[in-house]
Amino acid sequence: MDILNQEYVKGFIRLMTDGSNRGWHERNGGNLSYRLTLNEAEIIKANTTPDSNWFSIGTTVPELCEEMFLITGTGKFFKNAAEYPEETIGIIEIDSKGENYRILWGFLNGGRPTSELPTHLMNHEVKKKWTNNRHRVIYHAHTTNIISLTFILPQTDEVFTRQLWDMMPECPVVFPEGLGVIEWMVPGGEEIGMKTSKMMEEYNIVIWSNHGTFCSEETFDFTFGLMDTVEKAAEMLIKVLSINPNKQPVMTSDQLRALGSKYNVSINPKFLK
Ligand SMILES: [Zn+2]
Repeated sequence: MDILNQEYVKGFIRLMTDGSNRGWHERNGGNLSYRLTLNEAEIIKANTTPDSNWFSIGTTVPELCEEMFLITGTGKFFKNAAEYPEETIGIIEIDSKGENYRILWGFLNGGRPTSELPTHLMNHEVKKKWTNNRHRVIYHAHTTNIISLTFILPQTDEVFTRQLWDMMPECPVVFPEGLGVIEWMVPGGEEIGMKTSKMMEEYNIVIWSNHGTFCSEETFDFTFGLMDTVEKAAEMLIKVLSINPNKQPVMTSDQLRALGSKYNVSINPKFLK
């Protein structure tokens, strides 16, 4: 059984390549994780020998006990995923307490999961619960225009949501719940993970100021599509703001409500006056 031929592994690597081609993954920037289904995990269990070492996750994720994740490696480059998958990515299993992980496949030559492992797992824990087990993908990218916007706009959920919704009707339809913005924090630990996962209870997109974007979805296509939609809207907004720095949202709350009812999505009422 060739693990590299599993559909979810192919989808994972394709997303990494697509993100790299978009210019969101300079050097070793960004990270990605996927929660395996029970069936996929059974296949891995039957075809791999686990590493004997358990490592601390750096937080506790009791809702993810004995779950498996495909995840990018620390210090690895997205652009190398297709050519050197077994060095760049790996599959890990969480222990029965949700405190430690061990490596089942990949991470050749001493590799380990991304330093953002705590944030990824805390987000998965929240999304597994709040989406009734539907969401499986967590993606972090250094989205050029979103990062730039955090230097220009007030760092509030409302301003970012209303300004980005404004850019094209697709935006409120694709992310009707809006998005969250977190002020600059030290990346790579439990603290930023807790703050991000708290916001993930309400949103599928969380922006880290001066840093990048996290998003969550069911499939690789939906996840990449969400990141791409938000980043494209941010690119347009930067262009508009460069000509009119005082641009205010144009779409009215009534127009947003009408759009929501036409496309059968629930626009987050807290952003509607
Ligand atoms: Zn980052």
